[in-house]
Amino acid sequence: MNDRTAAAPAPTTPLAWSNRFATLGSAFFTELGATGMPDPHWVAWSDDCAALLGWGPDWRETGHAKGHAPPLQVFSGNALWPGMQPLASVYSGHQFGVWAGQLGDGRALWLGELDTPSGPLEIQLKGAGLTPYSRMGDGRAVLRSSIREFLCSEAMHHLGIPTTRALCVTGSRLPVRRERIETAAVATRVAPSFIRFGHFEHFAHHGKPTELAQLADFVIDRFYPECRDEPAPVLALLQAVTERTARLMAQWQAVGFCHGVMNTDNMSILGLTIDYGPFGFLDGFDPRHICNHSDDRGRYAFAAQPQVAWWNLHALAQALAPLVDNNVDGLQAALAPYPEAFSQAMTGVMRAKLGLAEARDDDAALIDSWLQLLAIEKTDFTIAHRRLCDFSTAPDAANGGLRDLFIDRTAFDAWAVRYAGRLAGENSQDAARALQMRLVNPKYVLRNHLAQTAIDRAETGDFSEVMRLLKVLSRPFDEQPEHEADAAFPPDWAQHLEVSCSS
Ligand code: AMP
Ligand code: MG
Repeated sequence: MNDRTAAAPAPTTPLAWSNRFATLGSAFFTELGATGMPDPHWVAWSDDCAALLGWGPDWRETGHAKGHAPPLQVFSGNALWPGMQPLASVYSGHQFGVWAGQLGDGRALWLGELDTPSGPLEIQLKGAGLTPYSRMGDGRAVLRSSIREFLCSEAMHHLGIPTTRALCVTGSRLPVRRERIETAAVATRVAPSFIRFGHFEHFAHHGKPTELAQLADFVIDRFYPECRDEPAPVLALLQAVTERTARLMAQWQAVGFCHGVMNTDNMSILGLTIDYGPFGFLDGFDPRHICNHSDDRGRYAFAAQPQVAWWNLHALAQALAPLVDNNVDGLQAALAPYPEAFSQAMTGVMRAKLGLAEARDDDAALIDSWLQLLAIEKTDFTIAHRRLCDFSTAPDAANGGLRDLFIDRTAFDAWAVRYAGRLAGENSQDAARALQMRLVNPKYVLRNHLAQTAIDRAETGDFSEVMRLLKVLSRPFDEQPEHEADAAFPPDWAQHLEVSCSS
């Protein structure tokens, strides 16, 4: 089973493969089969993601092409369905601020694009063997990192944050060497496109304007058709990506998500969260938190993310320059909306988190003072916001549950007076506001220790905790009394968890 999968037989599949990326031509990818895993088993799966593809809850048993390979084999890289057209794409990028040259899908394998009830969606395996772009890597992914990517992709989606999706994880006893010997897994990802800023940088850097233009046209026509009618479609594309990325950053910051490796090859041209590696959700609110143990300088620290995204957009702009005759003013103008778009999105989402229905001039200052209050004592970000939902404006209210989160009660009390005053100013009603706030302040996020507990169990062969967590994280805003423990403060041992680029 470790041999590369054979080319697909004649298409007789009922699935509607359109495979448009594959029409771009050989400058964009190398066609090759997957290198499968021996004797695979299911680790986890998302019926919700399957539904996106139009597949019913029995999708893992029936498959989609009667008489063709079972899904377990296909999503382990051991078999193909007719119509799939596996390929690894080439891209380049800046890693930690430095030009890294050619990268590419070193362990990702694009299987094809399906026309689904939700629109065209691409399916990609991660960890299915060597490609021409594997460089020093082994083309594999380990169980640990695949579970983290799977859970976080689905959790982010249910938090309402744009992201690539995860269909499933399959595992095998195949040993994979990292810091220790681990076992191999394959994660299957789903997205309208996996094109990154780095795809554009690749063709710009290698002096291939024709391919660069072809890529821009592909992205505009498929994903940003409104830009086509603009006087300068490429500049319009840059501006649209700028605005989407700004909104994405606001959503990350508002939920305490730290990506960890915001290299330009990990930036989606669609403004999706992509490539879950050493990510983390903040426990205590520490703006300087660095979730990636390998990031010793803190380039990708939590508070730096919005600025890094803008830096990355500049790299994208530079890559697009040849398409607009190096119109620097035009490129600058397309990037210029970023700070305002980010701060507007950030204020908007934080206003909602604080339950402010109306917009007032000094809201940004109020929001800032709240975040400062949290930062001083590194108060738990998720729990503080959830308890804020129950804030009482009654004159004699103690707001004990929330107040107890702070050692400096005087500082909290002062802020609470200010907040209560602001709420009174718009005649806010406690009960109605609490309901609204619970829709935007999640109770459940994928804290590191939750993922780690599921991983520890999975490494003993028990995958039930992964599926249980998936279920909990699929309803992040709901009270789930039976899962209260997943919304609790992290245990002491969580402070010592280290997550690095190794995956
Ligand atoms: P990342 O920072 O994880 O997004 O990966 C950066 C680059 O390294 C991408 O081109 C990946 O495809 C490649 N890469 C990461 N891990 C491996 C691996 N185990 N085998 C081959 N390529 C890898
Ligand atoms: Mg990557």
